[in-house]
Amino acid sequence: MTDDTTAGADVGPLSRDDVVADSPFTLPGFFDALADDRLLAAECRDCDAVLVPPRPACYECGSRNVAIAEQSKTGAVYSYTEVARPPSAFEDLAPITLAVVELESGGRLTGRVDAAYDDVEIGMPVELTTRTPDFDAEAVLSYEADWPIHVFEPRG
Ligand SMILES: [Zn+2]
Repeated sequence: MTDDTTAGADVGPLSRDDVVADSPFTLPGFFDALADDRLLAAECRDCDAVLVPPRPACYECGSRNVAIAEQSKTGAVYSYTEVARPPSAFEDLAPITLAVVELESGGRLTGRVDAAYDDVEIGMPVELTTRTPDFDAEAVLSYEADWPIHVFEPRG
């Protein structure tokens, strides 16, 4: 056990009381930060895994010794597919291209790519952008209505 004097809501191990709704270790906290243009991950201090969105425990090694770290929004397409029938909020955009993007930190985040399936390839550089939701709030769960939409834009 290390003598960690920086323990707090952004650093594990977390107590149950630390994981409140606006904690960056929850999805609402993750999206609040994203709305402020900050992409957060939890970095495991035991195995160096990068967890996006942040989780209070590492899904690679089980450690709770994790800390919030802001991430670069650039990365490369790791894998991708085409979704012909997306959720109703995105049906006007169908078919959509969905990708797993590996960030420069090594963390991976899934999201839509603003490009046709045939124009995407593995390794293609992309950058994460966020947009204010403009669809009917009835199409989503109430707590998601204010969450920013994240989209990967091709780079270069
Ligand atoms: Zn770990």
